[in-house]
Amino acid sequence: MMMAHRIAVPPVDNKPSGKALPFIPAPASDHPENAVDASTCTVYPGLCTEAGEHDDHSNHSNRVLADDGSLILDIGFVSLSGDEPHEIVYLRNEDFEPSQVRAKTAELRRLLDLADAMADELMAARQPQA
Ligand SMILES: [Zn+2]
Repeated sequence: MMMAHRIAVPPVDNKPSGKALPFIPAPASDHPENAVDASTCTVYPGLCTEAGEHDDHSNHSNRVLADDGSLILDIGFVSLSGDEPHEIVYLRNEDFEPSQVRAKTAELRRLLDLADAMADELMAARQPQA
């Protein structure tokens, strides 16, 4: 037995116009979860930041900056088409095959946890003794 789902069907103009009706999608503002920018990449939607028609894909917009604006860490990806298609994820100046990334990010997580632990110990040591 099929489950009965209530589906909102927009009102239909039944007056014959003699013209084919265009498909008019609901405005993205009605369904932000489905919003698709006109420039959204069709190969890596939500990941690639290239706009318009493109064959090579990338995202270079993820970075952590110091207070003075200098770069601490940036990550991104490049996917090149052409004679030798190639995909890499980079962490700062190092390129990785996608299958290699998790091993290196695990290492970074351990390092960042260590930074947290060091900061915690330093702050605890600075507390006035009771
Ligand atoms: Zn793309």
